[in-house]
This record gives sequence, C-alpha cells and structure tokens, in this order.
Amino acid sequence: MRIRAAILKEFRKPFSIEEIDIEPKEDEVVVNIKAVGVCGRDLVVWKGGFRNLKPPLILGHEIFGEYEGKPVAVFPAKVGKECLKLSEGKENLCNDYSIIGEKEIGGYSEAITIPKWNLIDLPDMNYEKYAAAACGVATIIHANNLAKLDKGSKVLVTGSNGGVGIHAIQYLSNLYEVYAYVRSEDKAKQLKDLNVIPITSFDFYKNSGKVDAVFEIVGSLTINESMLSLKKEGKLILIGNISGEPINIIRPAFIVMNEISIIGSAAYNKKEYEDAIKTIGEGKIKPFYKSYSLNEINNAYNDIINGKVVGRAVLKI
Ligand SMILES: [Zn+2]
Repeated sequence: MRIRAAILKEFRKPFSIEEIDIEPKEDEVVVNIKAVGVCGRDLVVWKGGFRNLKPPLILGHEIFGEYEGKPVAVFPAKVGKECLKLSEGKENLCNDYSIIGEKEIGGYSEAITIPKWNLIDLPDMNYEKYAAAACGVATIIHANNLAKLDKGSKVLVTGSNGGVGIHAIQYLSNLYEVYAYVRSEDKAKQLKDLNVIPITSFDFYKNSGKVDAVFEIVGSLTINESMLSLKKEGKLILIGNISGEPINIIRPAFIVMNEISIIGSAAYNKKEYEDAIKTIGEGKIKPFYKSYSLNEINNAYNDIINGKVVGRAVLKI
C-alpha cells in the first residue's frame, strides 16, 4: 500500500514528506496511525547522536492508531522471538530489541506494518494523550522499578518540563517527595498545578536537605550538579543524555567517598508500557503536548529545539 511519510534524509536537515510503499510480512498486520509522539530520542537521532544509524530514516516509535477499527497502541520496539522466550520481562536488554523507526520504517507516517505481538488494546480513542505521555511514563516506571526506593523518599528529577520529565514527575509524585528541576522561573510556573516542588537551582538542598535519588533525564548538562544533591549511598538513575555529548564526571571522589550508585535505565519492557497506558487511561497523568499535522513536522522540530513545546510534540495523522 502507498502511504505518506516524513523522511529524514540528512542529519540536522528538514524532513521531506514523500509517498512510499509498505507491505506487511507474513506475521505482520497494518495499523492506521492516528497520532505519534516526537520522542527526545528522535531528536538525538535527528542530530546524528546515534552513531550506528544512517539516513534515510523514518523515525517515530510512540505510535497509536487503529487496527480492524479498534484503538491500539504499538509497543515501540521489535523483539526477536527467541529473546522473548529467554528474557522474562527483560526484553529491553535483548540484543535484537530495536526501537521502531531506527532499523525499520517508523511512525512518522500514515500506516505501519508490525508483528501482532506489538499491539496493545487502548482504553479509548484519545490517541493524542497517549502519544504525549506513554513513552515517558513507561520510561519512569522502568527506572523506578530499577531504583528500588522506599515510599516517601526524596527524589530529584532533571528536565522536568520535557516530554519524559513532565509526565515522570506526575507518576513519581504519587510515591515520593519530588523536586523538579527546570531551567527558568517561567518553566517552573508550568509545573504549578502538579504535586511537586519546582526548583531552578541545584543549591536547593542547602535549605531542603539532600535527596535519596536523582532521576537524571538530561545527562551531560546537569549530571555533575545533580549528583552533588545526593545523600550518602544515594542513587543516580541515568535515563538519558539529550545533548548526545560525552559525560565528564568532574568530582569522581564524591561518588567514591559517598558510595553513590549509578544505575543505567534502558527504555522499558512491554508490561511496563501496558502499565503506562493503563495509568494514563485512568486519568492519573495530565498529558502535556502540542499537536501538529504530518506536514508540519519541521515546525514541530523547530519548536522543540527553541523550547516552545511543554511536554511532547505530537503529530496528528
Ligand atoms: Zn519515546
């Protein structure tokens, strides 16, 4: 079948909207896409931050649409059958776990062919709210499962007004006392209705005390300061590195002397993505997003780069 898609032909250059042909393979079905989120990860790919990926690429893994007239989510990664048998809920660590839109055609398009295993029933047809929040909520569910924190712990989240952050802080605020770092007072105002303490400076702990854990979403730009906010035996959960730049730890002695743990958190498994969809469907997370049509994808990227999107940019298809 012939569909329209947004193609990345060269890193850091505008996408081009073109028609392409797709055909389902033997074990695949066709999902008509209604909404797709623009993930922070997509932006890193767009910048050329994943050295193993080469254009042309059709990105997009936060895919929501219709299969046989019913609303569905597409689990954002393809996983080999052999790995699924062996991994028991750790499929995110499989060697053949590949995020949709990186090795194969992704969701910045009108339809996708996908193994039936990837389909998850959606509770309702408000595709955009799921496209806004599902990847971020699943990411924090996974990170939180790894962190093993006591209820009521004190935590810091960096990048709290981004697509992952603004949904992550809402999820965590049901469990912990959450300090939400953003870069400016203006951005702090965006968080005013949420059950978190917005901060714009890392010296907050001088008054409020150090934290048990940091959920580090930003990476190289904030990691040194966020680490100094940790108590002894604190945990730093490294979720992302949005700049794609190397991370330089300026005070390694702080990690040693305080027995800080650094925990890497890689995406999520299917069960965690299902949990995220359920949580959003129950109205427990307020989705923050701005909608664009497929034709407006370059405007969406410009707005994200210029800090004009609170939460996710969502392509409505
Ligand atoms: Zn994502």
